[in-house]
Amino acid sequence: MKRESKSAVAAWILGFILVTLLGGIVYIFTSNSFEREVPEIAFPKEIEWNLKEPLKIQVADESGIRFVEVSLFDGEKSVVLESKEITAMQQIVDLNVTFPKAGLNPTQKVFELSIKVVDKSKWNFFAGNSAYAKTVIKVDTKRPEVTIVNNSYKITKGGVATVVFRAYDEAMKSLYIETNFGKKFYPTPFYKEGYYISFVAWPTTVENFSASIVATDRAGNISRSHIAYFLQDKKYKTSTIALSDRFLEGKITDLISEMAPAQSSLLALEKFKYVNEEMRKGNEEAILKVTSNIPTDLIKGFYLKPFYPLRNGQVVASFGDHRFYEYNKQPVSQSFHLGLDFASNAQASMQTSNDGVVVFARENGIYGNNIIISHGLGVYSLYGHCSSYMIKEGDVVKAGESIAKTGVTGLALGDHLHFGMYVQGVDVRPEEWMDEVWLKESIFSIIDAAKKMIDR
Ligand SMILES: [Zn+2]
Repeated sequence: MKRESKSAVAAWILGFILVTLLGGIVYIFTSNSFEREVPEIAFPKEIEWNLKEPLKIQVADESGIRFVEVSLFDGEKSVVLESKEITAMQQIVDLNVTFPKAGLNPTQKVFELSIKVVDKSKWNFFAGNSAYAKTVIKVDTKRPEVTIVNNSYKITKGGVATVVFRAYDEAMKSLYIETNFGKKFYPTPFYKEGYYISFVAWPTTVENFSASIVATDRAGNISRSHIAYFLQDKKYKTSTIALSDRFLEGKITDLISEMAPAQSSLLALEKFKYVNEEMRKGNEEAILKVTSNIPTDLIKGFYLKPFYPLRNGQVVASFGDHRFYEYNKQPVSQSFHLGLDFASNAQASMQTSNDGVVVFARENGIYGNNIIISHGLGVYSLYGHCSSYMIKEGDVVKAGESIAKTGVTGLALGDHLHFGMYVQGVDVRPEEWMDEVWLKESIFSIIDAAKKMIDR
């Protein structure tokens, strides 16, 4: 063999080795099995632990978890809570660790939890990537303290009741009043730190009523306190209304062409169904949205005068009426009347009997020109079918101020005022808020007595 060909072979071999090496390096740097990402540990910096439920820890890595170890340190001693070698391919590992039965100071309330995780990567000379995390564990096995200070004696179906209570926890997470029908009422800080007030409402459409204060802390300790109200049932009227062609072709057709022109091609009866069901639903949702706001700043007290929205107004329809509509003796649709209707002269001026903020003053489907005023503590008054406004949205109004004139806008036949009261989004009996005795017995005397008890 000639010298030249020998060196050519050597160069070829060297080249081959270089390319293989380079390829290997490229492979190591780009291959998943040599990835350099450290495992992820999903864990907050500080955790409250009630010791009843296991602590949930999740670790994750693209190339899989090889090893995970969790230990707890009390300042002097450390105890391994969990140590796991994982052979199977597992990109996510969920751990549920429990407090050790022995080895740590049982009176200690603050611990340090450390987690070590190693992935299955071949990086670091096949040792893998490691991650460490430390977090402060605060042991909290105490449920929030809840004491009812005072509450209204009774609640009437369709009506409202008051509760004043004390709630305390170093790490309070949530506080609300739970009901049997899924609605939650939220309390407002009241009078002095740690005390709260709330109204609760029993909707006309719900058969039974029960309410409990639910306080939850960050460690997951929950306390529930039932509020004992005497339940007073009330029967609401049901009525059957025969729909006339004059009504369908007049008011209903006008409402459709004005507020839902896209539905103009519907038959007269279908138009009625649309107005009474679809339009009504949207209008009530708009009301729910603005009447659900509750103040979160501490209030010192709460007072309202009885509402008297229309001077010399005669009641022409009552709250809670369940109306069934018929056409040619056939049932067509139904609805609940969520307010009290008053009529006096046409375009009579109406007043707000209490200070408040105008949170809504605009057209709202079947409610026509619709005003909603916030009076604080989640209490709202509503005025429908107005012919003209004397206020605008955002205005601060004073008790006794004229706010609008009655009319026939929306689903109204004659000139009248539709007056509604809402508590945290629930329509309630306006009669209670117009009744000085009810206001005193169910709200003000409860508040006064509660303040005295808090001061003691
Ligand atoms: Zn009405």
